[in-house]
Amino acid sequence: MISLSGVAKSYPGGVTALAGVSLTIEHGELVAIVGPSGSGKSTMLNTIGTLDRPTSGTVRIDGYDISTLSERQLSALRATRIGFVFQSFHLAAGVAALDNVADGLLYNGMGLRERRRRSAAALRRVGLGHRLDHLSHELSGGERQRVAIARAVAGAPALLLADEPTGALDTASGAGVMALLRELNTLGTTVVIITHDREIAASLPRQVEMRDGRIVADSADRTASEVGT
Ligand code: ADP
Repeated sequence: MISLSGVAKSYPGGVTALAGVSLTIEHGELVAIVGPSGSGKSTMLNTIGTLDRPTSGTVRIDGYDISTLSERQLSALRATRIGFVFQSFHLAAGVAALDNVADGLLYNGMGLRERRRRSAAALRRVGLGHRLDHLSHELSGGERQRVAIARAVAGAPALLLADEPTGALDTASGAGVMALLRELNTLGTTVVIITHDREIAASLPRQVEMRDGRIVADSADRTASEVGT
């Protein structure tokens, strides 16, 4: 599903966000990305999500080498195969949940009626069938994040990328959001989650740890753990 090979990203002014990262994530995995603030987690997630292009190295998503795709093709790849969830929800203010999710399908080329139908189905799937007409500010933090997840999965993407999805939530709402992400994974979506929460990270099947723009530990890396024993 995801293959990064020697991926580096630097910004003008000499900031190195990624210093040569190689990582493979298979279809159907559920992976936690952990590491201190500034270690390159978001940059790596944005690179996987094709929102950022690397300075060097190769990024393959679902078989496509993203360096060979135009901006237009990348938009199409994102619209059809990748869902994003952010810490701060990124919902449009003053817009009903139904339309926040339906608007996320704008680039999939469906008419309004079909987008609304899929939106309602996605909201029901995240347990918000009774909140379709609520505006963003009429929803709790946990509900807003569930709307954001509904928006991310309404187009049935193969890959869901979440950057600190529980970071702005209380423990109970965070647990609800995690349960939902797990359920989506069980149904076949590949899920990659950045988290500061050690308990959440430990509860996921695979943990990838970053530091200074590099991967310093990967629980799926058998060679590394065998060398250690
Ligand atoms: P994390 O998600 O682990 O907190 P980031 O990927 O956000 O880390 O950032 C990694 C490094 O890259 C940090 O030093 C950060 O300041 C820098 N960085 C991130 N985005 C930019 C940008 N747009 N311009 C310059 N530096 C950036």
